[in-house]
Amino acid sequence: MKGKTAIITGAGRGIGRAVAVRLAKAGANVVINYLGNENAAKETQDLCLKEGAGATVVRGDVSCEEDCIRIVKTAVETFGTVDILVNNAGITRDGLLLRMDEKDFEAVMDTNLKGTFLMTKTVIRDMMKKRRGKIINVSSIVGIQGNPGQANYAAAKAGIIGFTKAAAREMAAKGININAVAPGFIETDMTAAMTDKAAETVTAAIPSGRLGKPEDVAETVAFLAGKESDYITGQIICVDGGLCMK
Ligand code: NAD
Repeated sequence: MKGKTAIITGAGRGIGRAVAVRLAKAGANVVINYLGNENAAKETQDLCLKEGAGATVVRGDVSCEEDCIRIVKTAVETFGTVDILVNNAGITRDGLLLRMDEKDFEAVMDTNLKGTFLMTKTVIRDMMKKRRGKIINVSSIVGIQGNPGQANYAAAKAGIIGFTKAAAREMAAKGININAVAPGFIETDMTAAMTDKAAETVTAAIPSGRLGKPEDVAETVAFLAGKESDYITGQIICVDGGLCMK
């Protein structure tokens, strides 16, 4: 990926950080987007710089179009172009359906689904001109099989799957590949709130017998960002130790 530029949203920690470091290791210049924690984003930047890649950080809310435009502008001004976009930023606002309020539904849709749409829309113009580009969306197995207490999150992640397929069909002839990964249970801050008992129950249901690591997801993203996957588009790859078999 030498000479390529990748934007990774929500890359201050967790899966986004692991993806940024993995793409940097493969030689890409990385644009590390974050929302709240600048220090964490700078830690990600340091890790990427250690891999010998170019790396910059840019604050921005992916659910806001102006911010998306600014993130992409920063990438182009810093590294000249954008070749890879990883739509990783995501949030949860869990609750049982009867008690889920509209704000929590909208917040989850805005960051996970609208953010993916806005960032994709903002990068594809340039990619279409070059007739080349790789977009990887981070969905979830919850978007495939559902999960009690996560109606908003499941809807957003299922929306990302539909979006990925429609966008992939639209963009395939323009040389842009759009795929998604659907992680299962990955050890990050997002899943840290699980009780030990819940983690035990989940682990027992995973054929591979362990929770995933951010690096497991990063390897698949790197594959989808590289030339080895040039003939793959519109696919949803579960990275889940076999938990969800379609
Ligand atoms: P995380 O909470 O550690 O990371 C999410 C990152 O997104 C955070 O750095 C956060 O600041 C950022 N973010 C949130 N809202 C944003 C916004 N509006 N604009 C820009 N950045 C924003 O969680 P994670 O586990 O690393 O999750 C990364 C992605 O993987 C998410 O899309 C999540 O839904 C998905 N996922 C995670 C798991 C898991 O088990 N951890 C499973 C399936 C899917």
